[in-house]
Amino acid sequence: MHITNIKTGLISVPLRTPFKTSLRTIDSIKSVVVSVETDAGITGIGEAHPTGPITGESIGSVRGAIHEFMLPKLKGKEIANLEDTLNTLDSSMVKNTSAKAAVEMAIYDLFGKKYQIPLYRLLGGYRNQVETDLTISVNSPEEMARDSRIAIDRGFRILKLKVGLNPALDIERIMAVKEACGPMTVLRLDANQGWSAREAVKIMREIESEITGIELLEQPVLAHDLEGLRMVKESIETPVLADEAVFSAIDAEKIISMGAADYINIKLMKTGGLRGAMRICALAEMHNVECFLGCMMETKISVTAAAHLACARSIITRCDLDSPALCSTDPVHGGIEIEGPWLKVSEAPGLGIDHVDGIIWD
Ligand code: MG
Repeated sequence: MHITNIKTGLISVPLRTPFKTSLRTIDSIKSVVVSVETDAGITGIGEAHPTGPITGESIGSVRGAIHEFMLPKLKGKEIANLEDTLNTLDSSMVKNTSAKAAVEMAIYDLFGKKYQIPLYRLLGGYRNQVETDLTISVNSPEEMARDSRIAIDRGFRILKLKVGLNPALDIERIMAVKEACGPMTVLRLDANQGWSAREAVKIMREIESEITGIELLEQPVLAHDLEGLRMVKESIETPVLADEAVFSAIDAEKIISMGAADYINIKLMKTGGLRGAMRICALAEMHNVECFLGCMMETKISVTAAAHLACARSIITRCDLDSPALCSTDPVHGGIEIEGPWLKVSEAPGLGIDHVDGIIWD
């Protein structure tokens, strides 16, 4: 089974309500979909969601990377020789991690289809479902309390709150959510690099004095500020999760050796796909550092790949794969089954995606 072509297209999926963080508001998910075609007539599917502020990519750059650099190198490559094919993809260009992730997951999809095995079994087969949290958009404390109640009614047990602009208001927001949900709800905070280390310590100490049961604080300081991240980790009680600071296993190695974070957030769009993600898993296993599996604002295509990985590996103990649950429609037929917070992988080969509605092919 040899690669003959890679097609790219666009997909846009509307959200239930606008997704608001301290940095932006969006009302739909827009991603590049890739279809890797073979001489066996079987195709593999993948998705790149380019998040410019994090990976430096755009819809145009993903298309360019695939058509100018990846496709010419991959044409004719044998799917059965996964190692060689993925080495070729890796060395086709540096960075462009979301573009690589999309093509790579499509190649894994083909590999699974060729040998009639679901991706999660191929990668470890540890379990067949994982639980995700749900992100509550930044709004007034009252609105956030209401949205949190709706999430609880939908079955979610873990909520993620974006913080980082106004500490006094953040505390009010967290208090309102906590009150609306009761003690059984687990709260995660994500500051998305919004604070200096000193600010983070001051704000978190204040939060810790008012509220108990915050499970973790995600990426409080700038991605490159590892000393700051360690300072925060050592100065507060709440465990710290590194997100934007970790793209590769080399980044993870630095953070683990410095003791700069308690947990590591793996996202396929940062690692360049499953292989890069599994390198981080292997390193984290050696040091007994638990991992998260997160996503950008992706559709169910790439979240299916992420869920397969999360199901495969025991070191991934928590998931933040909520973007399909934020969508008002699901154009993806097959793939993971979503029931409230539970993402269940199927026994269909590869990613198990049958077809996707509404793709506008280039
Ligand atoms: Mg994050």
